[in-house]
Amino acid sequence: MRIFGRIALALMVFVTISFSKDKKRSTDVTVDELKMHISYLASDELKGRLTGSGGDSLAAEYIRKDLKASGFVPLYKKGFQRFRVTDKIINGPGNFLALNGNSLKVNSDFAPFAFSQNGSFSGEVVFAGYGFEINEDSLKWNDYGGIDIKGKVAMILRADPEIEKTKSPFIRYSKDRDKVLQAKDMGAIGVLLVSGKTFDPEDKFESLAKGEQSVGIPAFRISRKIANQLLETNKQTIIDIELKMNELRKPASFNTGILVSGKSDIVETTVPTRNVVMVLPGSDKVLKNQYVVIGAHFDHLGMGGLGSGSRVPDSSAVHYGADDNASGVGMALELAQKLAASPKHFKRSIVVIAFSGEEEGLLGSKKFVEKPEIDLTKVNAMVNLDMVGRLNENSLVQIGGIGTAEPLKKMIYNSCDTTKLKLALSDEGYGPSDHASFYGKNIPVLFISSGAHLDYHTPADTWDKINYEGMVKISDMSYKLISDLANEDTKLVFKEAGPKEVVSRGSRRKGITLGIMPDFAGNVKNGLRADLVTPGKPAALGGMKKGDIITSINGKPVNNVQDYMFRLNQLKPGDSIAVEVLRDSLKIVLIIQL
Ligand SMILES: [Zn+2]
Repeated sequence: MRIFGRIALALMVFVTISFSKDKKRSTDVTVDELKMHISYLASDELKGRLTGSGGDSLAAEYIRKDLKASGFVPLYKKGFQRFRVTDKIINGPGNFLALNGNSLKVNSDFAPFAFSQNGSFSGEVVFAGYGFEINEDSLKWNDYGGIDIKGKVAMILRADPEIEKTKSPFIRYSKDRDKVLQAKDMGAIGVLLVSGKTFDPEDKFESLAKGEQSVGIPAFRISRKIANQLLETNKQTIIDIELKMNELRKPASFNTGILVSGKSDIVETTVPTRNVVMVLPGSDKVLKNQYVVIGAHFDHLGMGGLGSGSRVPDSSAVHYGADDNASGVGMALELAQKLAASPKHFKRSIVVIAFSGEEEGLLGSKKFVEKPEIDLTKVNAMVNLDMVGRLNENSLVQIGGIGTAEPLKKMIYNSCDTTKLKLALSDEGYGPSDHASFYGKNIPVLFISSGAHLDYHTPADTWDKINYEGMVKISDMSYKLISDLANEDTKLVFKEAGPKEVVSRGSRRKGITLGIMPDFAGNVKNGLRADLVTPGKPAALGGMKKGDIITSINGKPVNNVQDYMFRLNQLKPGDSIAVEVLRDSLKIVLIIQL
């Protein structure tokens, strides 16, 4: 890796120098210029562009400088929309929990949740079942009936009584944070959550995860051993109660008569980052107040590691992210340059946004739609370029979101030379990248990608593996499409196309499912056919279609349904997997988030 890194760096320096000597850049999208952008963004110097890191900041400066040179003008303060993201959440020194006056051990008996509010509490523990207060026509369950939780500490079971089912009406109510919030609404001053046996047989404490805001009261995870001590007066164990509740399908809440006191102390550190936002003003008096947004995220996974999203989390190495998503940024910069240099002017304004924080949960695009400096209702469409650098031998481009406005499909066919590119279109506006944030605001979106591959989210996603000629082909199509979106007289009318967010089981849930009905009969040899793909489930969201034949998962062959089940059993919820499928005898790799 090091040796390869040096070569990459040497070449990068060479390309950069030859560029700075010859200031005249072609205004067209060229292989050399794409290579220049990507080899820099995906160089060792930028160390994988982790959000909030020095590499992230260098990338942002580079992008802003290039857009400025092309003639784009800054939005926000000098083209940067600045915001902070959570870097780490760790246990502070002050965490404390005592049961009838005896102190318990942090991290083995109890631990705070990342969303716990720092502060002290003391009071009687009340067992409040699953912590539900559900009153729907088809589902009723109230764990708070007959108990008084006001000013007391709630002990609540995690998950729900149908944990074995992937489709259950309880799922919406089963998140840890939501349960704590519910208890707080009922008057609780603190919450102790405990894992049932069905949910987590090992009763293991997970490390503090980023991304959840404080819930307003202290919230601890406790072990089953401690839960049993709290239930002593009741002469039952937490497992007894869990099994009984699941079997009888009804609440079993009661006051324990046991006093606890505690203090929550979590420490959150944040780091600054930024989106780069620049605009090419439109030429039409009226339409210049409308916009076409070209988006591409520039952050990646840094050095990888546990919890980073790396598919090889055990190794620490630069995750170059050349395809993901130096390719999208490089293409956006080249398109911007060509658009700005076009002799024919564009009626609508064209905004280029390079997002940060995508890999950590679309943070940059969420921040943009929360605090936009343009009127979002005036955005004609958002075109998201994410992973456009690996056009394969079949020249297949995947485009999502075409159901989000009526004319999009036609516009794409108008823009595409189908002798050079093949199209795999899907309607859904939601997807695993920044366009989802815009779709959530009722804006027509297009998600353009050359698709996933086995180097995805590994250190092997390097600039030398990019198909630059392929990128030029995708750029040609995108240029035509963006021109039309900028010039068509009538504004697109948004249409809903699929869910705006996906409700799924939290982590630790066993029993992975892709949401397909396999061909159990084995009609196909050397693969497994999906005879049904359930909408809204991982496979469908990853682009799988009915009739696709799964041939491998994460590079390991799938020849039949037994192989398939075996491969699935080795995966964990939350994993991103690369699934190779045959569709109309074309090989496609889909990235599916479990
Ligand atoms: Zn990614």
